[in-house]
Formats: sequence, structure tokens, C-alpha cells
Amino acid sequence: MGDLLVIGSVALDSVETPFGKVREVLGGSATYFSYAASFFTQVRLVATVGEDFPEPHRRLLADRGVDTRGLRASQGKTFRWAGEYGFDLNEARTLDTQLNVLADFRPDLGEDLRRTPFLFLANIDPELQLDVLRQMKERPRLVALDTMNFWIRGKQAALRRALAEVDVVTINDAEARQLAGEPNLIRAARAIGAMGPRVVVVKRGEYGALMLADGAFFFVPAYPLESVYDPTGAGDTFAGGFMGHLAAQERVDAAAMRRAVVYGSVMASFTVEDFSLRRLTRLKPGDIADRYASFHDLIRLEA
Ligand code: AMP
Repeated sequence: MGDLLVIGSVALDSVETPFGKVREVLGGSATYFSYAASFFTQVRLVATVGEDFPEPHRRLLADRGVDTRGLRASQGKTFRWAGEYGFDLNEARTLDTQLNVLADFRPDLGEDLRRTPFLFLANIDPELQLDVLRQMKERPRLVALDTMNFWIRGKQAALRRALAEVDVVTINDAEARQLAGEPNLIRAARAIGAMGPRVVVVKRGEYGALMLADGAFFFVPAYPLESVYDPTGAGDTFAGGFMGHLAAQERVDAAAMRRAVVYGSVMASFTVEDFSLRRLTRLKPGDIADRYASFHDLIRLEA
């Protein structure tokens, strides 16, 4: 089992969907990622929050075995994100982004984290993603990165520098088109691959996930759910299942990557069933294996 280091945002999210509304609940790219990946392997979280961050949120992660020693409280307020979705849950509209303590965050990995074999640079300022890469003493076996429109628009040069150094990028379809400047998704995936990563995973919400790995495409549909309440965090949870599986298996070959896309889809399918991390906190032993088996049936060709 390989250790998995993540740096990203830990947030208080306010979200409205056609099915409900929540205010200042636990969110953040690194939060969803860590919680999901903790079902597979040892996760070490590096992030910052403000003095207003509720202690029970930290405990929630620690109780899942996430190493939260790198989750530092800084002076100021926790990062906040507000967003809404219409009936098309594939498209999040950002209403407000308050970086707060993230604006001055300088991650310091410390000696023991600089040799972690699996690294996930969750959605956060690409300058910070680069900073963390620079701090690694040994090149990790696998480095993956996730990003979003906010950084594609605001920090594209830094983002491209980071992309040139990673093995895997996970990105949603609209953002893939935006980053590549290309409306066709297949061409966009290839164009992003040409920026550096040998594996490009495009998350397509209810339409599943598409992977381009070493020139070959692989596609997995989303789990057919009748009740979807809040897609927030689905992308980060997907990445948690994806990287968690690879780190647990200590494999980075094409076959492992394909299974990892399914584990990512399994984890994301739970997250969207409730707001914040609520559904994930109710996962029972066996739920992940059961849904993985259902995926197998879903995409099997022979009867
Ligand atoms: P997703 O998995 O794409 O739905 O990501 C949702 C999470 O991203 C939310 O919990 C937000 O707190 C977080 N987030 C939103 N905007 C940003 C940003 N600019 N930087 C870092 N994290 C963000």
C-alpha cells in the first residue's frame, strides 16, 4: 500500500440545487479527495483553514484515518465557495469565491512528506501546485493534478507549467474545452495530453468519464442513479477513488488505470446522493465493492 499525499482546498461551501440548499457546510477539493481516498489507502492531507474552521470537521477526516497534521490553521477566515446548479446538474455556477487564508497559503511539506510515492495536486492555485512539486525530494511514482475554470482563466501560465510536470490530469468536460480552446472533446483531450500528462481523465458528470492513456481511449458511464441531490465534490471524490486505488495497488499501468476510473466513478456516485460529505459518511463496509460489482454488470458486453 503506497501513501498518498494531497494538497488542495478545505472549504466552507454554500450550495443551492433544485433539491435543497445548504450554508457553510464542509467542502473543498482536498476534503472530498481525502475522505474518498481514505477507503483505499493512507492519506496525508496538506491544506490550510482559518480560525473559524469547526473542530468537528477536522475530526471527521481524522476519524477516517486521514493524517491531518498538515492541515494548519492560519490567522483569518477559511476559504469559502458558493455555487448553484439548475436542473442540469452538470454545470456549476460559481456565485462567490473568497480565497481568505488560501490567498497567503505557503505549504511546507516537512521532511517526512517529501518522499510520498503518490501525489495529488487537488484544485487550488497552480502556483501552490508547482510549489509542492518543487518540494518533493524524490519524483513520486505518480503525480496527478486537477483544476477548474477559475484557475484556467486567472493563472493559465502557471497551470501550464504545472501540467508539463504531471503524469495524470483530471478535469471536467467544459474545463477541458476551455483549457484546450477546442470544442471537440476528443481533440481537447489530445491537446491537453500534448501539454504534458500521459493520462488525461475527462469527467463528464452524469455522462461518465473518458480517459486517454498513452494514446488509447477508455470510457465508463456514470452509475445510473434516480436521485441526485448535489454534484458538488463529485470530481474530487472521483479523483480520490482513482488515486486511492492506484496507491493501494501500487500500480500505474494501463489495466490499473482502467480499474481506477471505475473506482473513481463508484465513489463519485455516492457523493452526489446527498449534500456535502453526508453520503460518504454513511458508507457501510461492502458498499464500495457492491457498487463496483454493479459497474461490472453495467458495462459487461456478454450477457
Ligand atoms: P468539484 O469536485 O469540482 O465539484 O469541486 C467542488 C469543490 O471545489 C467545492 O467543495 C469547493 O469548495 C472547491 N472549490 C471551488 N472553487 C475553488 C477554487 N477556486 N480553488 C479551490 N477549490 C475550489
